[in-house]
Amino acid sequence: YKAQNSQDVTPDMVEGLANTSFPLCMRQIHSRLRTDHHLRHFARRQYGLFLKGIGMSLESSLAFFRDEFTKQMDADKFNKQYAYNIRHHYGKEGRQVESQPFDCAKIILTNPPAAQDCHGCPYRHSDPDVLAQKLERLGINKEQASQMLQLSKNNQYDKACTRFFEYTHRMPEGGLGHVITHPNQYFDLSRQVLE
Ligand code: SF4
Repeated sequence: YKAQNSQDVTPDMVEGLANTSFPLCMRQIHSRLRTDHHLRHFARRQYGLFLKGIGMSLESSLAFFRDEFTKQMDADKFNKQYAYNIRHHYGKEGRQVESQPFDCAKIILTNPPAAQDCHGCPYRHSDPDVLAQKLERLGINKEQASQMLQLSKNNQYDKACTRFFEYTHRMPEGGLGHVITHPNQYFDLSRQVLE
């Protein structure tokens, strides 16, 4: 799946977009960033490349992460330790090759999160009770959540994610007509439905 990059997403737009159009994996990383003002390596990469895919420029991405990280570190430390990675996502460092946003298969199959991490796919990597609580907080009712938990248990993470899309966009089951295989596909389909 190739992200559409249709709009210029600025830092002030992220919160609103996260609440309506981000898949659960990205909402999870986003809320951890807001709480801890920090993200560990794999979460920075999974989230930073996703944001690039939704249309965030390098300048906006640097501003977005700097605003949050400098709530708990000085700007000098941010510039020395973290700005490089962000520029790297855009091919401005290292081999000058632009990195592509991760698809679901890569997120599900590589670099599984440790206990203190927030990257990965919640349908694959979250404890079922924790996943159920997360879904409930986001307005998914008990019956819908238990269906999604069952799909996750059967390793049908793509279907669980597709159900989440349908429930949160007030569509009937199967109404999307696609199965989610990429977080940026999720985002682009959501914008198509909502705009
Ligand atoms: Fe994210 Fe893909 Fe998992 Fe959905 S299935 S939460 S888009 S990794």
